[in-house]
Amino acid sequence: MRRHLLFVTPPAPGHVHPTLALVERLVARGHRVSYVTSPALRPAVTAAGASAVDLNWEPETGALAGAEFSVETLVATMWGYLNAVASAMPTLLSRFERGAVDVVCSDAVVLGPLLAGVLGVPMVSLLPNFATNEHVRLAEIVPGFDPAHPALREYGGRLAALFAEYGLPAPADPTGGQGTGLTLVFLPREFQIAGDSFDDTYRFIGPSIPRYARASDWVPPRDGEPVVLVSLGTAFTNRPQFFATCVEAFRDPDWHVVMAVGEHVDPGTLGPLPASMEIASRVPQLAVLRHATVFVSHAGMGSTMESLYHQVPLVAVPQAREQVVNARRVVELGLGRCLDAAALTAEQLREAVDQVAADPAIRDNLATMKKALDAAGGANAGAEALERYLARSHEDSATGQRLS
Ligand code: UDP
Repeated sequence: MRRHLLFVTPPAPGHVHPTLALVERLVARGHRVSYVTSPALRPAVTAAGASAVDLNWEPETGALAGAEFSVETLVATMWGYLNAVASAMPTLLSRFERGAVDVVCSDAVVLGPLLAGVLGVPMVSLLPNFATNEHVRLAEIVPGFDPAHPALREYGGRLAALFAEYGLPAPADPTGGQGTGLTLVFLPREFQIAGDSFDDTYRFIGPSIPRYARASDWVPPRDGEPVVLVSLGTAFTNRPQFFATCVEAFRDPDWHVVMAVGEHVDPGTLGPLPASMEIASRVPQLAVLRHATVFVSHAGMGSTMESLYHQVPLVAVPQAREQVVNARRVVELGLGRCLDAAALTAEQLREAVDQVAADPAIRDNLATMKKALDAAGGANAGAEALERYLARSHEDSATGQRLS
C-alpha cells in the first residue's frame, strides 16, 4: 500500500544525512516522502526523492564551533529550533491537513510529536546517535543534562505551552523523543552501548549510503599515496589550532591529505601548505572515504558510521563530550584510536595515523564490524520495518473503530 511519510529532523547534516538512504528506499518502493528541512539541506533531501518543505532555521554552527558543548549551548540551540517550529506551524498545517500523511518519522523532539499529535497519526522515532535507557544515560553523554536543570525546566515550560496551544499534552520528557512503537537507530546493535538492553521496538538498522551519493566521485592522487581524510564535521569546526597541527603532521609527501576546515577557518592562515594536501571548507566525505586509508575525525556519529561502512580506521579527536563517548566506543571495539584535542601534537597525530593504518587487529575488527553493518540491513530493513509497523497500526486503529 502506498503511504505518505512525513520526515522531520533537526536541519543539520548530522541528523539529515543518515536518513537519506531510507528516504530513497521508501520512494523506490512506491511511497511518497515529504521532508521538513532547511533551504541548505533541500538539495540533499530532493536528490533522495523527497518533496522538501522549508523550515527557515539552521543551527548556529558559529556559536557551537568555539564553545564546549554544554547543557547551556544545547538548550540555546533547542530554543532556536522551538521558536522556529512555533512560527512555522501554521504554514506547515496549511500544507498537511488531517488525513494527508500516514506517519511522522522524526528525531526532532519538538516538531515531530507536535505534527503527529495534531495530524492524528503515529510517530516513528529516527535516531542517528546512541539510543538511551537506564543503562545508557543521556546525562553521561551530555554532562548535566538533567531535566531538573533550570535551563531545561524553562525550556520544558515553553514546550508544554506550545503543545497546549494545539490542544496536546506536554511531552513526557522534553529531551527524549524515543519510546515510540518503533525507533529506527542508524547504528548496528553491536556498536550501540548496552545494545542487548533495548527491546525490539528498537530496530538497529545501521548506516546506509544513498545511491545519489555513490554517484559522486573524488579522484585519488595519481601517485598512489595513501589518503588520510581530516574533518571535524559541520558544527565544531572553528579550530584553527587543530588544523594547523594537521598541516604540521603531514608536511612530508608520504600521505595525501584531504582536509575539510569548515567555514570559520581560512586555509591561508595555516602556514605554507604542502602540495600533497587538498584543503576546502567542505569535501565530498563519502567519495573520499571510498579511497581513504585513515580518517582523522571528531567522531560525530554520522562520520563514525560512514568510516565503519567503508572499513576505514579512525583516529578520533573529539571536540565535545558526545563525541568523546562515540570515540570511547570506537577504541573499546578496537576500530581506531582516540587523541585528546587539548593536548594534541603533530608528532602524536602522525604516529597514531601511521599506527592505525598498519594495525592488523584494527583491520580485522573493521571487517567484523562491516559484517554486522551488512547484517543490520540498512535502509531496506528500515523501509520494511516501517511498512510492517504502519500495516499493524492501521489494523489496530481499524479494529479500535469497529469495537467502539
Ligand atoms: N560532511 C561532508 N563534508 C564535509 C564535512 C561533513 O559531507 O566536509 C558530512 C559527513 O559525511 C556527515 C555529516 O556531514 O554525513 C556530519 O555529520 P556528523 O554526525 O559526523 O557530525 P556533525 O556535523 O553533526 O558534528
